[in-house]
Amino acid sequence: MTQDIRVRFAPSPTGPLHIGGVRTALFNYLFAKQNNGTFILRIEDTDQNRYVKGAETYIENALNWCSIPFDEGPGKDGGFGPYRQSERKHLYKQYADQLIQNGAAYYAFDTPETLDTLRKENEAQGKTFIYNWQNRDQLTNSLSLSNEDVVSKLNSNEPFVIRFKSPQNETLHLSDEIRGNIKIDTNILDDKILFKSDGMPTYHLANIVDDHLMKITHVIRGEEWLPSLALHVLLYKAFDWEIPKFAHLPLILKPVGKGKLSKRDGDKMGFPVFPLQWTDPKTNETSSGYKEAGYLPEAVVNMLSFLGWNPGTEQEIYSLEELIKEFDIKRVNKAGAKFDPEKAKWFQQQHLQQQDTATLSKQFEAILSEKNIATSLHLTTIIDVIKERATFVNDLWDLSHFYFLSPTEYDEKAVKKAWKEDTPNLMHELTRILEDISDFSEENVSNNVKGWIKGKEIGFGKIMMPLRIALVGSLQGPDLFQIASLIGKKETIKRIENTIEKL
Ligand code: GLU
Repeated sequence: MTQDIRVRFAPSPTGPLHIGGVRTALFNYLFAKQNNGTFILRIEDTDQNRYVKGAETYIENALNWCSIPFDEGPGKDGGFGPYRQSERKHLYKQYADQLIQNGAAYYAFDTPETLDTLRKENEAQGKTFIYNWQNRDQLTNSLSLSNEDVVSKLNSNEPFVIRFKSPQNETLHLSDEIRGNIKIDTNILDDKILFKSDGMPTYHLANIVDDHLMKITHVIRGEEWLPSLALHVLLYKAFDWEIPKFAHLPLILKPVGKGKLSKRDGDKMGFPVFPLQWTDPKTNETSSGYKEAGYLPEAVVNMLSFLGWNPGTEQEIYSLEELIKEFDIKRVNKAGAKFDPEKAKWFQQQHLQQQDTATLSKQFEAILSEKNIATSLHLTTIIDVIKERATFVNDLWDLSHFYFLSPTEYDEKAVKKAWKEDTPNLMHELTRILEDISDFSEENVSNNVKGWIKGKEIGFGKIMMPLRIALVGSLQGPDLFQIASLIGKKETIKRIENTIEKL
């Protein structure tokens, strides 16, 4: 029987989702979809101190904006809910008890003060305090105390935590889909807390219990969870549950320097690190998002897919559908992926080129109406000409304003370079040539003007550059005859006359 593939994205709602989190969600989504599997969103909100209002909605909005919606999750029950750990609280204690019963875990009554003192004493000697096989016999727990003492402590409601009893002198052979085989000496593990004195499970217990109950087959998550892998596998073994496959995705690194990409890198270098804009409910500080910066979701998805993965071919531009087909978890790299904001822009530019002209026209229309510009010009014709130099929809205006408005200012450098003493006379003469052209098509204007220039035996630049200044206001822009033809004879001549007057 083939197994139904079930994967989960399990963020903690402690703030907006960083693009690294979106990348984790994306790789889970791609893996699920290419296997006809189920992509689950589980909200890991057991730590109420770190809960941030609005973060869960933000996460859902971000996934939806990227077109990678979850199949099961809060509000979409697939029979494995609830999907918020805060709503599953009642489930976890019985599993902690089960581990106590089978000897894999124990009660620990050490007070935070005692542990703190021990930590400090160790530190003073240059050592790190680890609660495990080396010292658990000397600490206050159900392994060191008599049965009666334990029962009496429990009966008198003395605060306790439940700790995992890490095995001694074993070598664990772990396996990761990306990293291959990993050997771990259990003697270095500490006896992690599974259940806290406040009656809540820790991340480790809740995560394993939920992955099991939700029948997760593949755990795909960030590299920062690799150190927890040994404990997680030991927990599966202690429960005698089937162990899912694990894949730890490489870190996303700063564009320059060392370390993980952080919000501060974005602030410093002026690029978003969040998919959507986020306003912190406590500080009111707003962080920019890719959406609001004008990125297309398909560009962001494509850019993220290449953070730690590549198809092994030259192809870099992928649609989501293509990624679903081509993505291969085995081709994900172990090494951290440097984030490159320029490459992000490049992906955006490439995807903008793939947008059909009609879609762009609609968006451009909105920009024009915001500027109160009414036009009879065919926007599609203009977009076809300027699109290739645009990265964002907003660039369309900068690349095309001269089609709609005659220049009010002239680029100084351009004028200095191209507007000479004899220019006004030549421009006057040019207006007469243009006046005589009845069919003002691009080709016809081009032929007439070029013929006239040739006949005068002067350089093309002597006419074309000042003409460009007159029509555009600078030496930039697409083909001049195309501009002239589009804005029409009257407007072309008017702009030339205006310029003669002003310069
Ligand atoms: N709640 C963890 C996080 O915030 C989930 C880690 C995991 O996927 O196991 O990243």
